[in-house]
Amino acid sequence: MVVKNLNGHSIPACKCGSWLNHWRSYGKPSEDFSRRQSCSVVMCSHPIEEGGLVQKEVLEGMRAFGMVGDASWYILPLCRECNRKRGATLTVESGCGLASARVEETCGLSDLGEAATRSA
Ligand SMILES: [Zn+2]
Ligand SMILES: [Zn+2]
Repeated sequence: MVVKNLNGHSIPACKCGSWLNHWRSYGKPSEDFSRRQSCSVVMCSHPIEEGGLVQKEVLEGMRAFGMVGDASWYILPLCRECNRKRGATLTVESGCGLASARVEETCGLSDLGEAATRSA
């Protein structure tokens, strides 16, 4: 999966306290990825340090098949170094479990007892 790092430090974190905490609550990583406990970027073995704000990137060739860019913002776990690469295109593990950055779909719902229904 290819994403574009938008480095959202200018965007204040939600009420989870940090975007990394947000991902820990709402991301759905694969078992393999959870075991790995390192940065989402393929070939990067640094530990997870920050939650990175990204958008999914659609490659030129894929547009021909009618795929369009997904304007939604997502959070994934990155090391500090990868998160600092502002504007960079990153190839990340497909099992990294992107969390939606839309608080109205995630932690903004917690008042409705959403935490109780969240799968472990
Ligand atoms: Zn949150
Ligand atoms: Zn990294």
